[in-house]
Amino acid sequence: MNIPIFRSAVSAEGTVEAVILALSDVLRSGSYVLGANVAALEAALSQRLAAREVVAVNSGSDALKLALQALGVGSAGGGRGDDEVILPSYTFAACMEAVLGAGAIPVLVDSQDNGFAPGITAWQRARSPRTRAVLGVGLFGDARGTAELADWCRQENVYLVEDIAQCFGASDQGQAAGTWGDAAAMSFYPTKTLGAAGDAGAVAFRNPGHARRARLLRNHGYDGQEHRESGHNSRMDELQAAVLRIMLQRLPDDLQRRRWIASRYLQSLRTTGLTLPDVSEGHAWNYFVVLAGSGKERDRLALRLAAQGVATRVYYPEPLHRHAPYIARFGVCHLPHSERLAQRSLALPLYPALTDDEIAHVIQAVQTACVE
Ligand SMILES: *Cc1c(COP(=O)(O)O)cnc(C)c1O
Repeated sequence: MNIPIFRSAVSAEGTVEAVILALSDVLRSGSYVLGANVAALEAALSQRLAAREVVAVNSGSDALKLALQALGVGSAGGGRGDDEVILPSYTFAACMEAVLGAGAIPVLVDSQDNGFAPGITAWQRARSPRTRAVLGVGLFGDARGTAELADWCRQENVYLVEDIAQCFGASDQGQAAGTWGDAAAMSFYPTKTLGAAGDAGAVAFRNPGHARRARLLRNHGYDGQEHRESGHNSRMDELQAAVLRIMLQRLPDDLQRRRWIASRYLQSLRTTGLTLPDVSEGHAWNYFVVLAGSGKERDRLALRLAAQGVATRVYYPEPLHRHAPYIARFGVCHLPHSERLAQRSLALPLYPALTDDEIAHVIQAVQTACVE
């Protein structure tokens, strides 16, 4: 049995037929960019995000950058070149690229000693008079701690931008991820909880004025009459919007399936000696990431699983402060928890299209690999 690290639910039987019909409608319509499907998708996303105004864009990476720019954080959005944005080091490269692209300074913080995300004291220590925004990331689908972070940002009068690329559909304290901050960036890259059949993203705002600005920025600053500011081409196309409207209808079932698979893994892998992810209510289980006892053990586990046909992936091999462009610009620093996580973490296959047989095989393969 060969189990890939990911298989898109777009291609699942029962869904792909609907997708093909929707796509052929788009092709026949002749309207391919920022049309009726994009508008309908924005409305549907808004409904899931406490009626916040949603601006559809072409990737999660652009969503993050546009969020900062629309808020006026960093020189590209009319802020200052020394505006600081605090973000975790243990996350995807797009987070830091967005801060740099917005013309602001990234301030990286370490993870907690017993979890993936930074704790509130790490954010507090990184606060300076130049802090303009905090970028909170719901890593692997876990939005826990967002409520506390939102409280603190409010007290400190700094913007909270939520990166919900991996946790669309998750919640903290019963409130949806993406509704806590001033802005929330979504990615619909195929592997995310809401996945397109290509690249797409969106950004939601608390303040409609910021959303209006993002709407201009995604289309060269053009308001239909004049170019009011220097923007981007970050438009979403109709084909992706049509796919996403269908996938959004499936999302509750897909999230339920993700939670069920996670609970199977959590129960069955308890005795393997691996550190399993924390269970939290509201977790969207985008990725199921375990920790081995050391880097060597992690690499050995990955090899043993590969030999049994189970693909794995490392999210992320290096924390952001160890990336060459960061070191070149800001020098070497040491964030021990994020470095340890990068060495020891391993993602197992977890996605709605995983069959019951495949789930059983993953479990058996991990159990075998851990006693070998
Ligand atoms: C995927 C991802 C992004 C970037 O999204 P793209 O659509 O791939 O550009 C940003 N942040 C996080 C945490 C992600 O997982």
